[in-house]
Amino acid sequence: MGAGSSILDRLDETIVLSPEERILLESVRGLASDCIAPAAERYDRTGEFPSENVAAINALGLNAMFVPEVFGGTPLSYTCYLAAVRLISAACAATGIIWATNFHAMKPLVDFGTQEQKVRLLPRIAAGGLAALAITEPQAGSDATAMTTRFTPDGDHVVVNGGKVFITNGDVADLLLVFGKWTGIDDPRAAITALIVEKGTPGFDILRTEEKLGIRASSTAALAFADCRVPRANLLGAPGAGLKLLLASLNTSRPSVAAHALGIARAAFEDAVTYVNERKQGGRRVIENQGIQFLLADMATDLALAEAWLWHVGRLVDAGASDFAVEASMLKLRASDVAMRIATDAVQLHGGYGYCRDFRVERLFRDAKITQIWEGTNQIHRQFIGRSFLER
Ligand SMILES: Cc1cc2nc3c(=O)[nH]c(=O)nc-3n(C[C@H](O)[C@H](O)[C@H](O)COP(=O)(O)OP(=O)(O)OC[C@H]3O[C@@H](n4cnc5c(N)ncnc54)[C@H](O)[C@@H]3O)c2cc1C
Repeated sequence: MGAGSSILDRLDETIVLSPEERILLESVRGLASDCIAPAAERYDRTGEFPSENVAAINALGLNAMFVPEVFGGTPLSYTCYLAAVRLISAACAATGIIWATNFHAMKPLVDFGTQEQKVRLLPRIAAGGLAALAITEPQAGSDATAMTTRFTPDGDHVVVNGGKVFITNGDVADLLLVFGKWTGIDDPRAAITALIVEKGTPGFDILRTEEKLGIRASSTAALAFADCRVPRANLLGAPGAGLKLLLASLNTSRPSVAAHALGIARAAFEDAVTYVNERKQGGRRVIENQGIQFLLADMATDLALAEAWLWHVGRLVDAGASDFAVEASMLKLRASDVAMRIATDAVQLHGGYGYCRDFRVERLFRDAKITQIWEGTNQIHRQFIGRSFLER
């Protein structure tokens, strides 16, 4: 075993976690290796929703870690949550994002919901319910403020009309946090409002689920709302308060999608190291060529630095920081670029075998691509980070 192989493990040992969190993460590690990883190839091939994985995650009670105790949860640190996302995603990126989406969608309810809403809705999530976060529309992707879904007040109800696309868990979620515009507020940004729609509400339909390049077992749904009447009690925040909520929710979901990307990157890196140590060509192991060592050096260095920044952002959030949007954006940008590059290089290091399904790197390569696209494309993140240095 080379000295370099312990670098990433040593970095993991520096993650700030309580003894209870370490024990829980050991259980997550066991679940990932014994149950989730072995099924990943099958779920990728069939594109079937990994219900067994979701059930196993719920048997460990993992949703409870992001729900406050009074609402049925067992809260743990954000760092612990990120570490769990990374472990599950390394085993199966589709399952990792399904679970992480529960957090992305429900964190705004935890942070901005009324007591009544939390008492009514959060125990369902703590007990293992699925959630979805619905922002994107056909004409409103990078510019979410262009959304046209309408929320029209009608007595004790809000009437929803419009549609969403690309919604992770959209067809399976028990609760959907949906963003739309409040009828009667003209300013397009000030009109954005958040509403929780419950599964089975009349007027809410699933139009289709997408056939995808990667994360194939996670469902990505197009949703339609036609005169869908939702109790006004499900409004999250005041009419027009949605943009603030949306930005706050992205701040905590972006590190989480970075953890997902770094799970993929770590798996691809480990597979590549194993392979070039075993594969022989020209009478020696592939790793003995200096050109291959240079490639591994760059992969390892980029991965270690991105992981270190993941735990830095985790610490910021756990310390109660409120303004970490640029750090979160830098993390999402770099983690996803690193994941794509490491997965690409890992395929290269497997030669022709890396291009075939017999090896996991083929799947990791396809799974990595989405990480550069969602939660703000990397073009948008570069703009946001660069603009933060603009003196006004
Ligand atoms: C598998 C999957 C799961 C998803 N899950 C969810 C989900 O759960 N909830 C949800 O709400 N959304 C989800 N999305 C949507 C995702 O966040 C959007 O696809 C993403 O924000 C980009 O929007 P778009 O696809 O409309 O691309 P566009 O915004 O049309 O972008 C097209 C290209 O133009 C570039 N571009 C756009 N604007 C600019 C600009 N101002 N400057 C420079 N370049 C620009 C982009 O970077 C991109 O390269 C998901 C998408 C996928 C594919």
